[in-house]
Amino acid sequence: MEDSYLHRLIKPAVLNTNAYQVPDSSGMLKLDAMENPFDWPSALKQQWTDSLATVALNRYPDASADDMRSSFRQAFAVPDQLSILFGNGSDELIQLLLLALHNDYRRVLAPEPTFVMYRFLSEILEYEFIGVPLQNDFSLDLPAMLSAIEQHQPGIVFIAWPNNPTGVAYDETELEAIIAASPGLVVIDEAYHAFAERTMLDRISEFPNVLLMRTLSKLGLAGLRIGALIGSPQWINEIDKIRLPYNLGSLNQHSVNFITEHMDVLLSQAQVLKQQRTLLFDQLQQISAIQVWPSNANFILFKTVNKPAKEVHTELLQRKILIKNLSQAHPLLQDCLRVTVGTEDENRQFIQALGEILAT
Ligand SMILES: *Cc1c(COP(=O)(O)O)cnc(C)c1O
Repeated sequence: MEDSYLHRLIKPAVLNTNAYQVPDSSGMLKLDAMENPFDWPSALKQQWTDSLATVALNRYPDASADDMRSSFRQAFAVPDQLSILFGNGSDELIQLLLLALHNDYRRVLAPEPTFVMYRFLSEILEYEFIGVPLQNDFSLDLPAMLSAIEQHQPGIVFIAWPNNPTGVAYDETELEAIIAASPGLVVIDEAYHAFAERTMLDRISEFPNVLLMRTLSKLGLAGLRIGALIGSPQWINEIDKIRLPYNLGSLNQHSVNFITEHMDVLLSQAQVLKQQRTLLFDQLQQISAIQVWPSNANFILFKTVNKPAKEVHTELLQRKILIKNLSQAHPLLQDCLRVTVGTEDENRQFIQALGEILAT
């Protein structure tokens, strides 16, 4: 009975889309979502929970998140001349950027396959989304990018750097060419900065049309939902007008203040994961029934060659191991699976299970 209301009142872009799916992971070895697998030392955890008791939950949070901004600025060495806007995860920042976009530029472009939220959020807003296919080795097809930018004049180009789900970090000179060719904004999404050897943070002031995104999610704080948009004060001031006043709760802000005093803990966990990434990559390379790509992030993409990825994924699930099946996500990802780098023990369990599954 509601149907007639729904079809009249909800826009087709919403009716025709599927909600973002999060698989049930209870009881699973969870290697699907690029989470940091490590806990904090127990003394630190105690200190944190004690400090949370000082937060006044009867009060609204600091709407401008000023303390958190200074903590973040210091922890990530954000230059003073750049402003920072926080979102409830970088997902919210992508949404804010799109909401700010002028009606004359309702076109968004990104190389694909990439992070799905760029397309998902663009399409919900009924923008045109232009996905420019990467090359077969997942490097950028720069001539195709430049001609698509010329043809479509996108309001925003999103570049995940390194890219999810491929792990590739494009050459900086390629980014420069895209920035120079773009009539609109270029957003460099450095979600995997902690695992990559590069950043554009020190260069964004050189360009009038570049913003940078970081997130605390992949560094070990996925539960806090803290994303940062970094750029010139002029850009950030405009985007900030669209943000809901109290988008970040007091407990989250306080937790960021606390943990940024102990960045060494998170950064050394990231170091361990980088070492584990090398080990996991080497072990995956020794399995002849898969093709594997080197990664600059905390996950590894691989392709099954003699058994459909869907079957491998299902058999891993039967062994209580959850990774991401990307087969349906993009034509270039046929039979591709993505595994998050876990602890030494988790990676061992995964490799053993994968070896057994591919041997049968
Ligand atoms: C995971 C991921 C994000 C999402 O970050 P949140 O801050 O958790 O919303 C953004 N960009 C890319 C490329 C990602 O892989």
